[in-house]
Amino acid sequence: MTKMTKPLCKTCKKYGAKLYLKGRRCETAKCAVEMRDKKKKRKGAFVKRRKISEYGIQLMEKNKVKIYYGVLERQFRRYFDMAKKQQGITGENLLKLLESRLDNTVFRANWVYSRRMAKQVINHGEIRVNGKRVDRPGYVLKSGDTVQLHPESKYLKQVKECIEEYKAHMLPGWMQADSENLSINIVRAPLRDEVTLPINEQLIVNLYSK
Ligand code: SF4
Repeated sequence: MTKMTKPLCKTCKKYGAKLYLKGRRCETAKCAVEMRDKKKKRKGAFVKRRKISEYGIQLMEKNKVKIYYGVLERQFRRYFDMAKKQQGITGENLLKLLESRLDNTVFRANWVYSRRMAKQVINHGEIRVNGKRVDRPGYVLKSGDTVQLHPESKYLKQVKECIEEYKAHMLPGWMQADSENLSINIVRAPLRDEVTLPINEQLIVNLYSK
C-alpha cells in the first residue's frame, strides 16, 4: 500500500480532488475538499496558484492516480506496461486495469468504507475469487470472475453494515453484487466513463513516454 506520510485530507487538497482516503467522512459535508470549495464559492475567492511546469503537471496527475488506488511506483509502472501491450488507448487501458483491481472492486461494491479497508480485508485472506483464496489487493479481475467474502469472515458484520448504509448508492455497470450471498460478479470490463476520479490519463502516458 502507498505509505501516506501527510494528513489524508491535505493530500486531497494538494491534488485538488476527492481521493476518498478517509472512508465514511469522504461522503459527508465534512470532507475538506468540499468545505474548501464551498468556502471559495461563498467568498468568491481568487486563488493564486504557483506556476507548475509541464513535467510537474504530468507528475501530479500520475501521483493522484497512484494515491487514489493506493499503488506504489513499481506496481503502477507494471500496470502501465500491461496497458501498453493491450489493444486500444494506453491511458484508458491503464485506468481500466486499476479499476479492475480486487481491492477497488470490493470498495466499489460498497462492502467497505475505503480502499484501505478493502486492502486489509484482502490481506487477511478473507476474499475468494472463483472459489480460491486471493490475498493480493492488486489482483486484476476479468469478466466472468466471482468475488466472495469468506462465510465465516471476521469482517462479516462490518461488510453487512457497510452494504446496508450504502444500499442507495448505484453500483458501477461492470459488476453485479448479491448482498444476501455476499458475492460480486464481474460482468464486463469497466468503461473509461465509469472511473469517477477526474483525471487526464494522457498526461501519464506522456510522462512515461519521455
Ligand atoms: Fe478528506 Fe475529503 Fe479527501 Fe476524504 S475525500 S480524505 S474527507 S479531503
